[in-house]
Amino acid sequence: MELVFATNNKHKLEEIQEILSSRLSILSLSDIGCTEDIYETEFTLEGNALLKASYIKNKYALNCFADDTGLEVEILNNEPGIYSARYAGHAHDSEANMQKLLTKLEGKKNRKARFRTVIALILDDKEYLFEGIVKGAIAKEKRGTNGFGYDPVFIPEGWDKTFAELGNEIKNKISHRAEAVKKLSEFLNTYSNNK
Ligand code: IMP
Repeated sequence: MELVFATNNKHKLEEIQEILSSRLSILSLSDIGCTEDIYETEFTLEGNALLKASYIKNKYALNCFADDTGLEVEILNNEPGIYSARYAGHAHDSEANMQKLLTKLEGKKNRKARFRTVIALILDDKEYLFEGIVKGAIAKEKRGTNGFGYDPVFIPEGWDKTFAELGNEIKNKISHRAEAVKKLSEFLNTYSNNK
């Protein structure tokens, strides 16, 4: 079975293909010749993930899934959420995003936060959503060099190191994305076995 993953992020593609059964062949946006930007104009992670998957389904008539992730900080009413990539502006600058977050949390006791990933799948004209969450807290300053995005300031629950200090091997076992991908892969593996 062929399935489009609405991304050109190589790291995400490899991660997913490793987990999914070899009976499922995952195609990227460039594999299907889709070069246009799909703008995330919805106001929830669910809405944006579905928007991207629906765009591909409608334009290319292919089964497809798409993901969207946000960092939700409790005391900031779940900011930056859907704006995580562009929190400090459209430059998508992780350093500036983290700096803005640390400044907003200066002097704040409640530093609880969570990463949330939503994957939307459109398969044989039905829609499915899969969610992954990792709870944690925002550190007082940046620590560590691994990973990307907000990894240097996010300490997952049960650990005293940031994602950027823990490294990818541990992160990929406990992360929001890993949980959502696991749910997707369990669903797809069962689905393809029953076909
Ligand atoms: P996306 O939906 O996967 O593109 O994620 C949106 C934004 O959330 C990214 O640009 C990052 O700023 C942030 N983000 C998503 N996943 C992670 C992660 O695993 N670690 C740190 N930041 C992340």
